[in-house]
Amino acid sequence: MQLKAPRGTYDILPPDSSKWQYIEGILKETAETFGYREIRTPIFEHTELFERGVGSSTDIVTKEMYTFKDKSLRSLTLRPENTASCVRALIEHSIYSGIMPAKWYYIGPMFRYDRPQTGRYRQFHQFGVEAFGSNSPYLDAEVIILLIEVLKRLGLKEYELHINSVGCMQCRDVYRQKLIEHITPVKDKLCPDCQTRYQQNPLRVLDCKEKSCHQAIVNYPTLSQHLCDDCASHYDVVKKGLKANSIDYRHDDNLVRGLDYYTNTAFEIHIPGIGAQSAVGGGGRYNGLVEDCGGPDLPGIGFAMGIERLLLAVDTLAKELDSGKSDVFITIMNDDYELQALELLTRLRQENIRAEKDYMGRSGRAQMKYADKLGARMVIIIGDDEIQQGYFTLRDMQSKEQVQIYKEEIIESVKDRLVKFRGGNG
Ligand code: ATP
Ligand code: MG
Repeated sequence: MQLKAPRGTYDILPPDSSKWQYIEGILKETAETFGYREIRTPIFEHTELFERGVGSSTDIVTKEMYTFKDKSLRSLTLRPENTASCVRALIEHSIYSGIMPAKWYYIGPMFRYDRPQTGRYRQFHQFGVEAFGSNSPYLDAEVIILLIEVLKRLGLKEYELHINSVGCMQCRDVYRQKLIEHITPVKDKLCPDCQTRYQQNPLRVLDCKEKSCHQAIVNYPTLSQHLCDDCASHYDVVKKGLKANSIDYRHDDNLVRGLDYYTNTAFEIHIPGIGAQSAVGGGGRYNGLVEDCGGPDLPGIGFAMGIERLLLAVDTLAKELDSGKSDVFITIMNDDYELQALELLTRLRQENIRAEKDYMGRSGRAQMKYADKLGARMVIIIGDDEIQQGYFTLRDMQSKEQVQIYKEEIIESVKDRLVKFRGGNG
């Protein structure tokens, strides 16, 4: 049997891995510029963390978790998202007793038993940020501005930002009751999932993926009409913050986070051009989560974005990314010069010059072709004349010009030329 990667997983091979490095570089740089520092948590956690931290009535927990028992029969789960793990780490290391807010970002693989399709995998990657310890609506704005800044730096202009406020526990309790009253008479028209959950969690009907559920509940009372004064003004300040930064948004009554610990701001970002799975990222405020996970009453806000979907969007821009070209290739005209080549290669690499040689026993002519394939700008030729007279032949692969350089000067000479190449090409 030929072994294949498990369904819903895939390999990232060169040259595609260059695109990943490019995107990850921009994500990290942007987050660091905004004052967020990297956190790395384990890939697996106790199952209970996600049951509590993601919520036991969510799709993620009911259908999508990779849960297994280890050899001592503890139930562990591959992380389906990273907010719960961040909250666990915050509590475990008492970060909340230090300087606030604590601002973190992460990049890494997540695991969900989803039906694989374009933009949806079983192992996928998220970039996200979390900020703990402040309830300032300006921080909500900052987090959204960071999300938009990432898209801008990636050259993405076609996006839609949806925002809403899901209020606080108080205003939401009143609202939930009204929504249940609105849904009850039409409950038979809901999908099976919503029929079972609408009593306990009516907000989940609003973000159900079944169109029929939305048709059944038309003209439902909206949360934004039921916000208390504090929540309404929090939402206003967030919107003002976005406007002041020239960020367009659309208020979206359907955008809710169906869980009790979500509060106030909720947002989602869509890129229409990338197919059916157009949601690239989403997030919001979760002022109840830290306490729900056994920590102090500490507010938090964050978002997560899917890197695969970002990549789909960046790919449609056909951006030309560096695919790991070599700077210099060393061609030897004779097997006897393997050692000289290897030693020179190491010295070049110690100077951070991307240098390569042949390992397939190619002829001199075939080595030159190979150098061309690798995109080398220069080739250093080592032959009998060179060794006897103590110089190297340096060939410029573009102009085809060849010059002789004393052995002792070769490194400096290559460096000088690279500076000129790079300068010349911007
Ligand atoms: P969806 O509606 O696509 O199922 P979700 O609500 O499950 O998304 P979140 O939990 O909010 O998604 O995760 C944030 C982002 O992570 C999504 O917007 C998406 O870009 C990405 N994402 C989520 N699940 C997957 C997956 N199975 N494969 C690839 N990316 C994913
Ligand atoms: Mg999902």
